[in-house]
Amino acid sequence: MILDIVKFPDKTLRKKTKPVEKVSDDILEKLNNMAETMYNAPGVGLAAPQVGIDKRLVVMDITAEDEPPKLEKLINPEVLEYEGEQTGEEGCLSLPGEYADVKRAEWIRYKYIDENGDEHLQEATGLRARVIQHEVDHLDGILFIDKLSTMKRDMIKKRIKKRISQGDY
Ligand SMILES: [Zn+2]
Repeated sequence: MILDIVKFPDKTLRKKTKPVEKVSDDILEKLNNMAETMYNAPGVGLAAPQVGIDKRLVVMDITAEDEPPKLEKLINPEVLEYEGEQTGEEGCLSLPGEYADVKRAEWIRYKYIDENGDEHLQEATGLRARVIQHEVDHLDGILFIDKLSTMKRDMIKKRIKKRISQGDY
């Protein structure tokens, strides 16, 4: 089922989400719906608060268009260590049409639980590390615009306000 995507400045995006305590059928169904919503958008990642779900769930697929899709489902993902720095352009399904260069760690160590309830400890660099940091931020109510200078953030907020008034957002 394709879910409605919550857009900034909706307050739902600012809530810290609750950890998953048991990988139930309900959680698996939520992950499937999130994946369908992400591919439909389309986007490379989607976090539960973006579809109004108050759980620590993320789906992502960072494969290129000419590669076979590889869906990743992360339950209770957590970034444990950060190293280095990278800057790259980010967008967000909750701020459609808005993009900005965001500074992130180049390397991370992270953990998550998979659909079978098994815990994994992994490392990521580059785009994978960027997407994971962006999505885990969502679970804590943090958006990519929070990582920008006040000036850049205000510019985006102003533009969104204008777009809303024009019915173009
Ligand atoms: Zn996002």
